[in-house]
Amino acid sequence: MYTDEEKKEIAQRYRVLLRVWKNRKNDEEATMVRKAFDLAVEAHSGMRRRSKEPYVYHPLEVATICAKDMRLDATSIVCALLHDVVEDTDITIEEIEHKFNPRVAMIIGGLTKIQGILDDGQRSIQAEYFKRMILALAEDMRVILIKLADRLHNMRTLNHMPRDKQLKIASETLVLYAPLAYRIGLYNIKTELEDLSLKYTEPDIYEFIFNQLEKSKIDRDRFINLFIYPVKNILSKYEISYLIHVRLKSVYSIWQKMQKQNINFEDVYDIFAVRIILDSPPETERLDCWKVYSLITEIYKPKHDRIRDWISIPKSNGYEALHTTVMSHLGKWVEIQIRSKRMHEIAESGYASHHFYKNVTDEVSAIDSWLTKIKEQFQSTENDALDFLDDFKLDLYSEEIYTFTPKGDMKKLPIGATALDFAYSIHTEIGNHSLGAKVNLSLVPLKQVLKSGDQVEIITSKKQKPQSEWLDFVTTTRAKNYIKEGIKEEKRLFYEDGKKKLEKYFTSLQIEFNKNSLKKFQEYVGITSKIDFYYSVAKGKIGLDDLKACCQKPEKSQWFNSLNLFSKNKTENKTQGINIAEKIRNKPEEVILGDKTNLDYIEAPCCNPIPGDDIIGLITPSKPIMVHRVNCKKAINEMSNFGNRIVKAKWNKQETILFLAGIEFRSIDKMGFIFRISDIISNKYNLKIRSFHLDSSNEVSEGKIMLYVHDTKNLNDLINDLKKIKEIKKISRMNPV
Ligand code: MN
Repeated sequence: MYTDEEKKEIAQRYRVLLRVWKNRKNDEEATMVRKAFDLAVEAHSGMRRRSKEPYVYHPLEVATICAKDMRLDATSIVCALLHDVVEDTDITIEEIEHKFNPRVAMIIGGLTKIQGILDDGQRSIQAEYFKRMILALAEDMRVILIKLADRLHNMRTLNHMPRDKQLKIASETLVLYAPLAYRIGLYNIKTELEDLSLKYTEPDIYEFIFNQLEKSKIDRDRFINLFIYPVKNILSKYEISYLIHVRLKSVYSIWQKMQKQNINFEDVYDIFAVRIILDSPPETERLDCWKVYSLITEIYKPKHDRIRDWISIPKSNGYEALHTTVMSHLGKWVEIQIRSKRMHEIAESGYASHHFYKNVTDEVSAIDSWLTKIKEQFQSTENDALDFLDDFKLDLYSEEIYTFTPKGDMKKLPIGATALDFAYSIHTEIGNHSLGAKVNLSLVPLKQVLKSGDQVEIITSKKQKPQSEWLDFVTTTRAKNYIKEGIKEEKRLFYEDGKKKLEKYFTSLQIEFNKNSLKKFQEYVGITSKIDFYYSVAKGKIGLDDLKACCQKPEKSQWFNSLNLFSKNKTENKTQGINIAEKIRNKPEEVILGDKTNLDYIEAPCCNPIPGDDIIGLITPSKPIMVHRVNCKKAINEMSNFGNRIVKAKWNKQETILFLAGIEFRSIDKMGFIFRISDIISNKYNLKIRSFHLDSSNEVSEGKIMLYVHDTKNLNDLINDLKKIKEIKKISRMNPV
């Protein structure tokens, strides 16, 4: 099945794998890896990747990432080589277990996608898959590490995929896998995943920033040399042995910063950081880091609010270092990161793998407690996969604060955490019964947002129960799940009561109280959960009148219409009743937009796409197709959950249709220029303005104009003309929110 040329290439790649696999312990391990390699080559022999290359290159590359970048063990390399074998070939998990061992079989099982999950268009297959993977991760960390290596290689070879697949995979990477890599402390992999995602979601921006970085390299190098010269001198004078690296900010984080602070590339001050790595033994490494800090701040003055001490309290992902920002002699701020060799190794190959490989068992690492937390969350609830995924995403992104119990024990919580989150972080029972809190000795409500350094005491009452309003102000998944659980428990108490009441209603209207009629009524009121349903009956929210109304709808089709009785936009649900699953399964390769009579679609209000934009369509059950710009944050999130619902979309050019678009600008406040803006829009371009907002303070105005345009060219021409008004300092199309 392989040509001679390919056989040579496979052997070559295998040799590379062996070369980078440094922590091999014995011959037995080498034999096992060889066996896995042979099996992978054999099993995948008939398969090709989209690039026409032999499929087996992929598992070989994934194994190489595991060995080289993550420094994983022999079992991981075996699993990486075989990770697609069960999913894509005839080989079963049982055979793997027989040929290798139960552990290998368990890991590969965790990496294999779920077979037989029905794509009914409602459920998010991605969410189910991810939930399963995280469950397996709780059993063995290597599941997630290999999955990340797999994802990294797929991202590196994404150019062979069709556009809609690229967008699906890139969005999922950005929303889930990159933050996950960060959470585990795999910085390099996180950075590469983000950059690759940006390259496919927003190729123009990626290329622009990439080129700017290249162009500014000579100037930057000159600056850096000037900057580190005195640093080197002083470190040598004190006979400190060290290495200096310069770390360039990734394209993706530069873009993040430009957006967040609304600044140009030139204005991003921390394009690079200077990293000083000390050759210092574990016993004195902390002291040495502080020593270097004080030597450097003798030369350059530090920015007082920019010290980050992750030496005394490491980050949850295991990161340790001392960061500071100092003022260079050329008037520019420079970030400096000081760390020991050991800390550097952890940051490079990930705390998890480091921890794992060194077999550290005497200390409970932050990663361990994170894993424990995840396991707990699963034991406590039968959470819906999509809910879980959303909570999990929140957890992944969060930065931390440090708070303390009255006895001085530290509790790490995500930024935005409230007193109630704190209560649940101590104990479920304390959370469930909490009434209020004392923060730094003064009394505050449970929704009080905590800051680093707060000392918190929770006040409880036996009578207190979890409230549904609580869900509005907790941020941790743990608290959320326990509150939901508590509410459910509470509602369960009303189950029998509600059921009895309902039975009475049914009897009084002489309807048989059976499964079928119950189901119809439940559909009518639109509550899917039995517990919620009976609770509403018990509480009188659903009564005899509703049942009567329900019965007066005799036609079958109206059962469908009435399903959405409680949703606001009844008119939007035109396609109700069509088999949505069918529609999604037979989705067209590409939809052409323009004539709304043929195809029902809506331009998403979050990003207002117009002809000329790079767009995608998202098919949502029972709703018109939603058209987003590909760089829309909301669309990226949707794609990461429901990638199988993406369709390529294209505008059918029609001059007569106008589209809503937004422009934002900053200007010097002077009389008259607003007239010129509206003159250009209305008279020169003949466009209609929908709204015009202006905020002025200190002689600077910020404006937002919503108006109807034909396409991107039309909009860009207009923006270029408005730029010529001299009071306008900055003007651009509104970014999707
Ligand atoms: Mn794979």
